[in-house]
Amino acid sequence: MKITSIFDKTELANGVKMPWLGYGTYKAQGNGLKEGLKFALNIGYRLIDTAEMYQNEEEIGKAIEESNVPREELFITSKVWNTNQGFDNTLKSFDSSLKKLQTDYLDLYLIHWPVSGKYLETWKALEKIYKEGRVKAIGVSNFLIHHLQDVINNCEIIPMVNQVEFHPYLLQGELLEFCKENKIQLEAWSPLMRGRVNSIREIQDIAKKYNKTPVQIVLRWDLQHEVVTIPKSVHEERIKENSDIFDFELSKEEMRIIDGLDRNERFGAHPDDF
Ligand code: NDP
Repeated sequence: MKITSIFDKTELANGVKMPWLGYGTYKAQGNGLKEGLKFALNIGYRLIDTAEMYQNEEEIGKAIEESNVPREELFITSKVWNTNQGFDNTLKSFDSSLKKLQTDYLDLYLIHWPVSGKYLETWKALEKIYKEGRVKAIGVSNFLIHHLQDVINNCEIIPMVNQVEFHPYLLQGELLEFCKENKIQLEAWSPLMRGRVNSIREIQDIAKKYNKTPVQIVLRWDLQHEVVTIPKSVHEERIKENSDIFDFELSKEEMRIIDGLDRNERFGAHPDDF
């Protein structure tokens, strides 16, 4: 698949279109988020990734209101936090996110982490919201194969997206394969390893060839793996840099070199221990 523009989208299992590149917002609250997001929207970003845990949904709602982008052009994702899982609490969390974001629907709602003993019940609440037409797509985050299999075996709807830690040191090839087989779109969080990708020599070498930065090489690697990616920055020059990834193509050999850096190393929590 050729991805050549910031407006290109992937098609989820239910036909909903989701941008390949999005704007991450974790730890951005009150810290340049509003201006950063407005700048991002201005240069073409359309996917916004938030969560009730980030405590920035209100700020995002205001930034959207102040931008001139029509709601139907946006793709807004939020997530139910761990302590609010369970059927009734999830419904309440969803309503609260809508209110804070000043919208009457979400494009994607996710279970933030697979809380043991709770996530199936939480998933049933997401199915209800989906059937009511209040969210265009539903999915999960930080689910391993065994969590996904559990949902597939016990629920009606297969998650449409799985948002996980994904970067050159954590490829998770089996999970990626499982998701492709089951039409679950994989989405990468911490795609830049929080800036660390800039110091990986093999990626620096590839970057020189294309006159790009290591960050841009890694985001392009995500796209060529057909993984949606949501780098976070509150700095205009970086927001722009992170979106300038549509005018070149990594070779199979370069993809293989980056795949080969995998160390199964997480910078965030392990989903079975969190
Ligand atoms: P990223 O890998 O996106 O890295 C963000 C960090 O890298 C920030 O410190 C940012 O700094 C810096 N940075 C951004 N662009 C550049 C650049 N071009 N050059 C150098 N440094 C840069 O990490 P995140 O953990 O933020 O992940 C992205 C998004 O994924 C989150 O914001 C959130 O929306 C989501 N997420 C989801 C999780 C989940 O459990 N589902 C967990 C964690 C994240 P600065 O802002 O100062 O520019």
